[in-house]
Amino acid sequence: TYVVTDACIRCKYMDCVEVCPVDCFYEGENMLVINPNECIDCGVCEPECPAEAILPDTEGGLEKFLELNATFSAQW
Ligand code: SF4
Repeated sequence: TYVVTDACIRCKYMDCVEVCPVDCFYEGENMLVINPNECIDCGVCEPECPAEAILPDTEGGLEKFLELNATFSAQW
């Protein structure tokens, strides 16, 4: 899955939401999140983010954000 990190906070571009083929972006507390159960790992959103806030979970050290994305996307 891809993961939204805190570089998204206060970003208003939302370009990622428009390109996602499965609409798996959701509104978190102060940033967007990706539902890990819906993300198909296509990678289309990553280059669209002007804040470089979206990373693949294969990058290390993202445990905190993985949890945050899962928690907030599950509220919808
Ligand atoms: Fe959506 Fe693809 Fe990004 Fe996953 S990797 S959030 S499916 S655009």
